[in-house]
Amino acid sequence: MTQIRQDDVIQSITDALQYISYYHPEDFIESIHEAYNREENPAAKDALAQILVNSRMSAVGHRPLCQDTGIVTVFCRVGQNVTFDTEMALTDMINEGVRRAYKHPDNILRASVLADPDGKRENTKDNTPAVIHYDIVPGDTLSFQVAAKGGGSEAKSRFAMLNPSDSVVDWVLEQIPVMGAGWCPPGMLGIGIGGTAEKAMMLAKESLMEPIDIHELQARGAQNRAEELRLEIFEKVNALGIGAQGLGGLTTVLDVKVYDYPTHAANKPMAIIPNCAATRHVDFELDGSGPAHLEAPNLEVWPDIAWGNDGKSKQVNLDTITPEEVQSWKSGDTLLLNGKIYTGRDAAHKRMADMLAKGEKLPVDFTNKFIYYVGPVDPMGDEVVGPAGPTTATRMDKFTGTMLRETGLIGMVGKAERGLEAIQDIKENQAVYLMAVGGAAYLVSKAIRSSRVVAFEDLGMEAIYEFEVKDMPVTVAVDSDGVSVHHTAPKVWQAKIGKIPVTQA
Ligand code: SF4
Repeated sequence: MTQIRQDDVIQSITDALQYISYYHPEDFIESIHEAYNREENPAAKDALAQILVNSRMSAVGHRPLCQDTGIVTVFCRVGQNVTFDTEMALTDMINEGVRRAYKHPDNILRASVLADPDGKRENTKDNTPAVIHYDIVPGDTLSFQVAAKGGGSEAKSRFAMLNPSDSVVDWVLEQIPVMGAGWCPPGMLGIGIGGTAEKAMMLAKESLMEPIDIHELQARGAQNRAEELRLEIFEKVNALGIGAQGLGGLTTVLDVKVYDYPTHAANKPMAIIPNCAATRHVDFELDGSGPAHLEAPNLEVWPDIAWGNDGKSKQVNLDTITPEEVQSWKSGDTLLLNGKIYTGRDAAHKRMADMLAKGEKLPVDFTNKFIYYVGPVDPMGDEVVGPAGPTTATRMDKFTGTMLRETGLIGMVGKAERGLEAIQDIKENQAVYLMAVGGAAYLVSKAIRSSRVVAFEDLGMEAIYEFEVKDMPVTVAVDSDGVSVHHTAPKVWQAKIGKIPVTQA
């Protein structure tokens, strides 16, 4: 009978979370590299290059791949012959491992978990608790699949109780375009079919723990219905032309996983959970001989891709920018930002909207300024700021009209598309929305040369910072005419791919 020590569980969970914070799985690197080589849209190819360069920098620097270091999800299989040498419950051991990982002195990770989700939403400050699923299985070992799931991709999860005769493929193809690019494609789709409502969601999440192997399946052919669906959905989703970061292109998904389970005759429960550019998961097993040993990957796995100023992007001075200059930009233009930019995300926007509603003066003058939707990781050592990539812009849509009308703000920088109302606000106020690449947070942070908190310090990573940036790469995603690259580009690439006819809205 195997005896598992408390310290081995805690240490292994800590090590696993540190490991996945800066090492992408090798299969993910290889798959992104292949997508990069195949990509024909220069904008999407550039986004893929940023993801690859960022990934290598994180692997070398042992700093997070993304500023959102995720909520921890653990699948734990407990062998029936295992005993524990501990006073702690297994759940408490896992959470202690999470706590130590996120507060690790060599690589502090961003604590993103809030207690009281529909109440005070207070940060638990150590990213606990994890979401843990147990299974009791035959055997002498304790095995784990540990993941750190980004909020942007989790937010795009979908569930439906289909009628038994409904088409799974049709439902997926309806969902993917409306999921937008906030899940930072390309990544993987986890699909769960069957069981009950909660079982379908669990199947979708668990399927994401598998490595990318769609090409092996393509080569050997499907042997059951789940594999048939994988192949069909993979081909059809990529034919939608959404592309990396929603910029249009050949690769939207790197793989599609389908797990299924018997279900009630009256039901066909269906779930989709996407995994993003910050795909982070690792497996290990404890057999009583000590903590897990996770081998560092060989850095030669990462392709040697040069990325930098290609001379095609416009240089922009944010300190002297005028509304007229902003209005000259067109959707799809690439820019390099220089100068001062303010930050702000959900909590800061809510507070500013409340202050404006009460007629109070804001602590920051936004006249002719840009705001960057970001919640950075705390800096380490001589860093100015930790990884600081963009967060999903649509969450700020409801504040956009107020900010543009009442504060003098002329532009925003975030991740993925804007909603129709926000696009209308941008057009009416002759402003602009720029997008940075989600999942390239460590690379973006190197463009930030100074950082200081200027308001709402109590909000922690959600405070308003003033960043001084140098050559920060962005794309004009919504121009002052209200043209959105996320609406136009996928249609162009869907037509080029030519497998699914483009219908005009
Ligand atoms: S890659 Fe995108 S969705 Fe994933 S954690 Fe980072 S910001 Fe969130």
